[in-house]
Amino acid sequence: MERNPYLPPEADVHDIARGDCWRESGGTVYVARGSDLPQRCVNCNTLLVQRPKRKTYYWHASGWYLLILLNIILYAIAAMIVRKKIEISAGLCDQHRKRRWLKVGSALGLFVLMFVAGVVMFGGETAGISLACFAGSVAALVAGVIFARVIYPVEITERGGRFKGCGPEFLASLATVTRGSR
Ligand SMILES: [Zn+2]
Repeated sequence: MERNPYLPPEADVHDIARGDCWRESGGTVYVARGSDLPQRCVNCNTLLVQRPKRKTYYWHASGWYLLILLNIILYAIAAMIVRKKIEISAGLCDQHRKRRWLKVGSALGLFVLMFVAGVVMFGGETAGISLACFAGSVAALVAGVIFARVIYPVEITERGGRFKGCGPEFLASLATVTRGSR
């Protein structure tokens, strides 16, 4: 008998995702609406004692960002209307949660330092240095936001969501389905 390709590989019950969830090419994970990820660290695949809280993820096609050039309020309204959302629970083990907060904390610390330095150096002969510090503080803030997210959506449709940001061990535990076969 041929094995159903949509089923995860044989393993214990915690390896099995809730409903339809699989790995696609390029390290993307697909989660069908109403399904969920397996109860494991999305980074190192360690079994989680508790199912992580469900979180709502939002996504819209990147073309809508062009509206920002016209009017940011118009964009905000349009984004609220066109965005798609999905609720899933992506969790981290204790070790990866700690590592995440260390990275976020470092980025925020750097942001504050650079911002204060920018204010102190503001104007006069040090204006150039001040500008560089402000630019650095913005970069640190962006890095902090990137470090803070566990996984991020690359597409959300009526049927489900596609996510990136999972670690290789977690990805390896999921069944593979080639995109477009469903
Ligand atoms: Zn982990």
